[in-house]
Amino acid sequence: MKQDATYYRRILDNLYDGVCIVDKSGQVTFWNKGAERLSGYRSEEVVGHRCTNDIALHMDKNGRRLCDCDDCPTMNCMRRRELIAEQVYIHHKEGYLIPTLTRVSPLVDSRGEVAGAVEIFSENKREVEAIKKIERLERMALLDPLTGIGNRRFCIMNIEAQLSAMKRYGWQFGLILSDLDFFKRINDDHGHNVGDRVLSAISQTLANGIRSSDVICRWGGEEFVAIVHQVGAAELCTTAEKLRRLVETARIKVDGKDISVTLSLGATLAKEDDSSDSLIERADLLMYRSKSEGRNRVSCFPGALQ
Ligand code: GH3
Ligand code: MG
Ligand code: MG
Repeated sequence: MKQDATYYRRILDNLYDGVCIVDKSGQVTFWNKGAERLSGYRSEEVVGHRCTNDIALHMDKNGRRLCDCDDCPTMNCMRRRELIAEQVYIHHKEGYLIPTLTRVSPLVDSRGEVAGAVEIFSENKREVEAIKKIERLERMALLDPLTGIGNRRFCIMNIEAQLSAMKRYGWQFGLILSDLDFFKRINDDHGHNVGDRVLSAISQTLANGIRSSDVICRWGGEEFVAIVHQVGAAELCTTAEKLRRLVETARIKVDGKDISVTLSLGATLAKEDDSSDSLIERADLLMYRSKSEGRNRVSCFPGALQ
């Protein structure tokens, strides 16, 4: 059964991979739907252009434009009459680079002459996976695995970012350090696993008690820090008091038992000459004041609320 060009074109269009056909001079004669999807360029924007033009440029991993330095895989394939498979980046229309595995085969006419080349390119999954893995690791390095909220490192990064924003733009912010009261008893009475589940539940309660623009992190063990953006003294103390109340009220269900815990908190506004250490230290002293004054309470600086 003889098939026409449209038939084959339709088959090529249905491939997931990008397919690009060039003639002997390197001019693009066909650009399938897969290539459109991967590169963002429509067929009519590419067909008729030479691959050396500013379209879907091929680059190596160092950003070297392969077409400009006589290392174009397509031209090499035709020159050497051999299949070339390389990992190259292609330029998406939006400007970012996509890692691809590109295979180019020479097209030979009935006289045995090279008439062009067909380039098949697919997103290089391994490389994409590697990038995603790095992102995952970066996320993991900033997240506390037990509670899923930010860890101490994340907290310090945020405090430092807020300190420089305060110095540059005058944005006030506050910090609330809290420590669970008599938490050792929870572990002693119910076991460490139950203790872990209580810590997770409390971190969710705290996360739900702050504005979405604010940050809650696990400072360590059973200590949490809230970074409250764009806030004055009174509002900061109100926020700390709200967190205290939410935790006090929460009944955490673990294996059919209701467990409740309380928090001692220290809340302070950041000052122009603060470092992350001095800010945390002040909040820590205030938190200890709450402990020594009977626990389950808030100490604020400046201006105590009680
Ligand atoms: P205080 O009111 O003075 O803070 O009493 P506390 O019992 O909370 O204080 P202490 O520092 O004596 O004990 C903290 C406890 O928190 C001890 C430790 O076993 C527990 N803890 C710290 N990290 C974890 C954790 O990741 N999981 C569990 N289950 N317990 C933890
Ligand atoms: Mg404690
Ligand atoms: Mg503690």
